[in-house]
Amino acid sequence: MSYGSDRLIAQAERGPELSEALENLGRELGAGVGQQVGPLRTDWGPDWADLQCPICDASWVGRIGSLCYWCCKSLANMIQWQREAVLTPPDMELGDKRRPNALLAWGKRLKVQVDAGNITKEEAERVYKRELGRTQ
Ligand SMILES: [Zn+2]
Repeated sequence: MSYGSDRLIAQAERGPELSEALENLGRELGAGVGQQVGPLRTDWGPDWADLQCPICDASWVGRIGSLCYWCCKSLANMIQWQREAVLTPPDMELGDKRRPNALLAWGKRLKVQVDAGNITKEEAERVYKRELGRTQ
């Protein structure tokens, strides 16, 4: 096997590349850090090895101590789903007598997400006003 094809196979074994934004998110929220579980992969560099994530058990070839792409991606997905969930108003008919309390509770959830930086104040105000102004 030539060096060239070894390198292609090693590339296929690597985890997907982390973007800077995804890596920053992973560091901030505690994504797994790859632990060496196999031999060094000097074909990639002096600090490359078979790695495994202690959080999600993903395995890949990467730099020792690199963040787990799959943990970072899961954290990004959770934030996105949280955004979508909180920006969706309570599913209630206009005449439902529980609606006023449901809207108050939703407003509090929106504020928590604004304070956490997951949605903007403008996004929260837009969806809340739209729901308050709903006529059918
Ligand atoms: Zn992981």
